[in-house]
Amino acid sequence: MIRTRFAPSPTGYLHIGGARTALFSWAYARKHGGKFILRIEDTDLERSTKQSTQEILDGMAWLGLDYDEGPLYQMQRLARYQEIAEQLLQTNQAYYCYASKEELDMMREQQLAAGLKPRYDGRWRDSKKTPPTGVKPVIRFKNPREGHVVFNDLVKGRIAVANHELDDLVLIRSDGVPTYNFSVVLDDLDMNISHVIRGDDHVNNTPRQINILKTLDAPLPYYAHVPMILGTDGERLSKRHGAVSVTQYRDNGYLPEALINYLARLGWSHGDEEIFSQEQLIAWFDLTSINRSPARFNPEKLCWLNQQYLKTADNSRLAKLAVPFLEADECNIKAGPDLSLVVDLLKERVNTIEELADAAVYFFRSLEPSDELKIQHLNKEVKPVLTDLMKRFATIKWNRQTIHNEIKSTATEHGIKLPKLAMPLRVIITGEAQTPSIDAVLDLLGQEETLHRMKKKIS
Ligand code: GLU
Repeated sequence: MIRTRFAPSPTGYLHIGGARTALFSWAYARKHGGKFILRIEDTDLERSTKQSTQEILDGMAWLGLDYDEGPLYQMQRLARYQEIAEQLLQTNQAYYCYASKEELDMMREQQLAAGLKPRYDGRWRDSKKTPPTGVKPVIRFKNPREGHVVFNDLVKGRIAVANHELDDLVLIRSDGVPTYNFSVVLDDLDMNISHVIRGDDHVNNTPRQINILKTLDAPLPYYAHVPMILGTDGERLSKRHGAVSVTQYRDNGYLPEALINYLARLGWSHGDEEIFSQEQLIAWFDLTSINRSPARFNPEKLCWLNQQYLKTADNSRLAKLAVPFLEADECNIKAGPDLSLVVDLLKERVNTIEELADAAVYFFRSLEPSDELKIQHLNKEVKPVLTDLMKRFATIKWNRQTIHNEIKSTATEHGIKLPKLAMPLRVIITGEAQTPSIDAVLDLLGQEETLHRMKKKIS
């Protein structure tokens, strides 16, 4: 049975790099009819927060990355980590280390001064010294000193590390809390994880984790380390490059299926396919087609994909998503036309829900044109034409065709070209210079509101 997991630390927002790792783990489990597990790695007590956990859960739910087990919390498994640490102590595969922080700092300084890579020197390994009183020890792993750790990473290929490169890592800190490398091993083992899919910032931890598993006579999972995501400048993707949290994209008006599609394509490909559904992703996904080199995050591409999804998305769904944006912009939605119809008119012209809402504001409250637009389009000559048009509008049966006809015939009778009337009309009704076809806008806005705005603006 394929069992994968996503194991974020709740020390910040759900980064889109993390979300992509989660997506790959999820897709792999779904493809093979396996299980996907969410584990919250909350052992960093200083940096873990409830709010961050909530953001991760919200982000996963929004993206539709459903898990079969979890969320499991490491802090609820302290007894289990202790139990195995005790077992390792008893079999002489782990030991207490009483070295103080000052002592270790000095050791590191000396190693650096001697041009050596700083690492724990094993001073309490097999030591017969009497432990100092009043010092709470850590528990360290007795890493083998000979031989190599070799594993076949499903993305990176064969990786070999000499054991003498690895020092005796801390399993349990002096406060009883396990380190990442220890808890992750026991969790993956107890949860029967078959494939550990994670960011390649952890690839150096894997040999250490394998050594612990071997000591426990436990089966090894497969490992797949996914390359990092870089910004367009080739630096590791961070806030400097713009929004990097999943919930930020939600709040900026992206659709989850667009973000999923984009993240899937980031470092993984299936031929030249750009747009695909979650079902297709599940059918096509494979760990072996993940790129070995880091992917570059391209916000414009994501924006383009979002636009493609907006075009075909259901109008009433988009309307619902636009409501909070419009309300934040002081729009009284009930006082305007049916929002779904407004969405239908605008959705091909925008990239995000936020832009959609921005473009819809004038349907729900009157906007004052800028001075620049007024100077450009509302000259003295056009005012009488607009007044005439207003009178004619008052008498017609309101629909797109009759509105169009009336604008056209009014322009003709006053001897001006159609745009010379349509633009000023657009500006006084919408406050903007760029909108969909003005007859379509007026049709939706309604006869009464159109006349009301014209009257206010012309007089
Ligand atoms: N908690 C680790 C992180 O957020 C994940 C480690 C793992 O997947 O093994 O980087």
